[in-house]
Amino acid sequence: MSVHFIQWNTSHDMLKEVNRLYDAAGTFDCIEKGDLVAVKLHVGELGNPYHVQPFFVHDIVRRVKEAGGKPFLTDSTTYYCAQRNNGYDHTVTALMHGFGMAPFIVADGLRGENARLVKTKGILKEVEVAGVIAEADAMIVVSHNKGHELSGFGGAIKNLGMGCTSQAGKLRQHRTIGLEIDTSKCIGCGKCKDACSMHLPEIIEGKARNTSPLCMRCPMCSEACPTGAIKLTDKNNLCRALASAAYGVLSTFRKGKVSYVSFAKDITQYCDCLPNPGERVMKDVGIFASNSPVSIDAAFLGMIDYKIFNDAYSVDCMLQVKEAKNLGIEGDTAPKINRIS
Ligand code: SF4
Ligand code: SF4
Repeated sequence: MSVHFIQWNTSHDMLKEVNRLYDAAGTFDCIEKGDLVAVKLHVGELGNPYHVQPFFVHDIVRRVKEAGGKPFLTDSTTYYCAQRNNGYDHTVTALMHGFGMAPFIVADGLRGENARLVKTKGILKEVEVAGVIAEADAMIVVSHNKGHELSGFGGAIKNLGMGCTSQAGKLRQHRTIGLEIDTSKCIGCGKCKDACSMHLPEIIEGKARNTSPLCMRCPMCSEACPTGAIKLTDKNNLCRALASAAYGVLSTFRKGKVSYVSFAKDITQYCDCLPNPGERVMKDVGIFASNSPVSIDAAFLGMIDYKIFNDAYSVDCMLQVKEAKNLGIEGDTAPKINRIS
């Protein structure tokens, strides 16, 4: 399955150019008259300046309407406690970041519990797909490519797997990672407990302990630990879980009803889930369009030196792509790329 690509070039009108990309890729061919079309984006944690620019999303909404669909913007709540942890705060964040060009319907409801449990393949046996996603007729997956502390990078597969599942689905994926505390290194300072938004680590007799089933294996406590006593293990499992969850999400759509657009621009060190995503780590690449999440992510990785992410996060960026392909999600790990000139 091919990928269409347009290079980022600000000596051109990129809004006009991206429409040529959509036409060549048939981005909106998945829409039939009257379809309720989810425009799945990541609105960014409040204050993050590098999410997809609203005018591109405005234009996608226009194109969905032109194709006969009824577009709505959607994203799911976060498991961790920040500015998108419930439907109310998430909607406020979306509006503050400029995403008011169509109804914003939170994918998993007011408290992140609206989900459909579906069977899937791979490392997860089942996953909680966000209810609104599962009910949509078609979906345009709008992704911002960037680094990610746990999965190496985030693109279309991550936008599907993590982004289209409820809080329970997110926890299920994160729990495939292990967490170890080396008590011989622990000095009982409690910085891990302070760093955890749920204050899960306990300090017992001067040593940290974490046995909570609510722990989502995020990097906050390990990064705060001054002695390196906390380690996240088996991070590759999360890459497999993303692919597994993505398979479950796609099973709720009829074949050919999902299309992908990825913006490889403002490619930051960390993901859009943080208000402070760090430095931009490479030059802007361009915009990709495809009808396969495998192909579109592989095309991006094939164009950059993703070793920078592999080395920084000790995880292989290609793993989620290969796993998605292995599970039977259509696409190529070395896709043909049609450059729009
Ligand atoms: S990994 Fe650490 S910071 Fe993250 S939820 Fe678990 S205990 Fe809290
Ligand atoms: S931050 Fe590290 S050293 Fe301090 S209590 Fe937690 S595990 Fe122990």
